[in-house]
Amino acid sequence: MELQCKLLLYVDNRSYLNDMRENCVNFLEQLTEKTLCKFPPLRFILEVDVMDLVDAFPELWEILFTEPIKFQKMCNDILFACLQATDMEVKDSIEYAQVAVTIRLKSVPRLNESNPCHYKGLVTIDGLLLTLSKPESYVYHSVWSCPEECEGSEVILHYIPKHPPKCYMCKSILFENSGLRRCGERVTATFKVKDHLQPKIFLIIDDLFSKLSLGTRYILHVVVTKKVTTVWSLEKIILLPAPITSSIPKDVEELFKACKGIPWKFIYCLASTIGVNICPLNCFMHLKINLLLSLTSIKANAITGSSIIHVLAGGFDTRYVGEIMTEAAKLADRSVILGASNSVASTALIGSSGGVCVLPLPLHIYHHKQVASVLTAIETGNVNTGTGLTTLKSAVWAQGMDFKKMILFNVASVFGNVCRGDCGEYYDEIIDFVLQQAVVPAGISKEEIQALKDVRNYIDLVAGIEVDLDDATENLLRSYFLAARKENTKCVSVGSMNALVATCLTSARLCRRSVANVDDAVFAIWLHVSGSPEPRFAPDEYLQTPADVRKLQKIIYSFKDWLEQFTGNCSL
Ligand SMILES: [Zn+2]
Repeated sequence: MELQCKLLLYVDNRSYLNDMRENCVNFLEQLTEKTLCKFPPLRFILEVDVMDLVDAFPELWEILFTEPIKFQKMCNDILFACLQATDMEVKDSIEYAQVAVTIRLKSVPRLNESNPCHYKGLVTIDGLLLTLSKPESYVYHSVWSCPEECEGSEVILHYIPKHPPKCYMCKSILFENSGLRRCGERVTATFKVKDHLQPKIFLIIDDLFSKLSLGTRYILHVVVTKKVTTVWSLEKIILLPAPITSSIPKDVEELFKACKGIPWKFIYCLASTIGVNICPLNCFMHLKINLLLSLTSIKANAITGSSIIHVLAGGFDTRYVGEIMTEAAKLADRSVILGASNSVASTALIGSSGGVCVLPLPLHIYHHKQVASVLTAIETGNVNTGTGLTTLKSAVWAQGMDFKKMILFNVASVFGNVCRGDCGEYYDEIIDFVLQQAVVPAGISKEEIQALKDVRNYIDLVAGIEVDLDDATENLLRSYFLAARKENTKCVSVGSMNALVATCLTSARLCRRSVANVDDAVFAIWLHVSGSPEPRFAPDEYLQTPADVRKLQKIIYSFKDWLEQFTGNCSL
């Protein structure tokens, strides 16, 4: 069977043919003597369910996929034939070029990644929306006439050409009847495309751009010709929780069992995978734990909408904290470093949506405008793009603070949580580490790469778990918060409560529980007190992050005793 017949069968089967006919009749009925000579356009939107097409008419899918323009032309032919098949006389005055089908695609299967060197046929692009212009008008229908008034010399174009067309009879240059021009609206959208350094710009028209929001990932289906690139459809990428039957990476599962599912033990061990070649093993554990919790919270935010945990590390400005952050950021789906090449805070925040925006240099080095926009974004949950607001969908990691200055308490209160950065505790270990690296430079081993992959996969698996607080846990968090506020309101801002709850929930999530328990709360509070600027509420010996999980257990037990007294809560 000929392809055109198959297409006809398809549009007939799916009742599009009937719609086309009705569309033609309505169009013809509305025409009058006056409008007829103005060459009005007839458009029909054909929404193709691609999975259905693949199933029922694979040959048509082949054409749509490899030669989309040909497919569209075949659809135009059918629409024009529908028009010709009506029994109204005005049909004879309608020209082929007045008629066009706009194709929209839905349920498009994920195709092979397109090779950007030779875009051919229907191209799939996976991109994160970075910027969006205001709507502007564009021409989709223009009529050109001959100055010599040659009969039947009108030319209808679906765009404005660079050079006006010529009359096919007398060769004069045609002029445009600007009154007959038809315009639609379109926006210019910039996308960060997966695995491409340069962002890509697309023009997105009428019915498609209302679906767009900044910082969201889309699959675009575009048709590239020599002159123009046309977006035929776009679909938002929605992350779904992993099915409960998915298997946990073997090593992580063993670790979980060995830790008996106790949150601080398990999360401590899991976090020690981060940055093994950057600093001595099991140093900066407080920071690594916070980074792991933050990474989990971002993924969970994308799936369940739960709160994001931001990380602010305090301490001396040594290179370690920045480097560990940069290394840990590689575990996120995407990360943007705010610095010389990405200097606009709002762009960096939107560009890191679903991932991390890292400020690896000490905060005071950044321009106060950059710091102010980042802090406002965290505080309000919105990024100001200059033309509007869009939701903050990334975690901010910053460092390097001198907490003696009053203003820094304000920064800390925005983050809600301060994490222990480099306070000079690991001086000896670092010297040994540097010496050893100088003698035997250690590359990254296969095991380390696998361990990081496991952590990444594990985060993906647990991110979709919805977690609640039970009453005892909520009481403990609340009584700690109130007791701590009494002690020092500057150290414990209102934002701290949100951060405490988010940390507690994320701890439960990492242990694959749907209810957070007292252990999670103790862990969250311990992280909070240990990170607080000195003098801290609890004795220093309860607040160290040791290089060994057994010592950590002792510390947590003593901390629990202290917490019981501090809060007057006997549920521990
Ligand atoms: Zn002419």
